[in-house]
Amino acid sequence: MAACIFCKIIKGDIPSFKLFENDKVFAFLDIQPLSKGHALVIPKYHGAKLTDIPDDSLVDILHVLKKIAVATGAENYNVLQNNGRLAHQEVDHVHFHLIPKPNEKEGLGIGWPAQKLEMDELKKLFEEVKAKM
Ligand code: 5GP
Ligand code: ZN
Repeated sequence: MAACIFCKIIKGDIPSFKLFENDKVFAFLDIQPLSKGHALVIPKYHGAKLTDIPDDSLVDILHVLKKIAVATGAENYNVLQNNGRLAHQEVDHVHFHLIPKPNEKEGLGIGWPAQKLEMDELKKLFEEVKAKM
């Protein structure tokens, strides 16, 4: 997609520190890292959200995330993939963050507002989602 910055990075029209590339996947360092080694792994196929990407364009992504995690030597790290503005997505080309967590201050900070759900509510939700899979 012509206006997309990550498509431009894939094409080489915008420079990046490229870590990996094959026919389906591209990986590079994040320009505003949360920690040293913060990288982005993206499908070459343009789509805004995970659900917009064909399965065959996603198959290598986990392998590449693992490769980068090993290369950073990080003992603690997060994999993050945001979809939609409310979920903190800024760039509308699917991307997976690999974010080393070297200490409490650097890396990803996570709010985890866990809710208490009764077992019958959980079962109802389970049945609704399972029926659509
Ligand atoms: P999001 O919030 O959409 O999940 O994250 C987008 C990420 O893309 C941010 O961490 C941001 O720093 C990174 N980013 C945005 N523009 C560029 C760019 O031009 N080059 C690189 N390397 N990273 C970018
Ligand atoms: Zn794109």
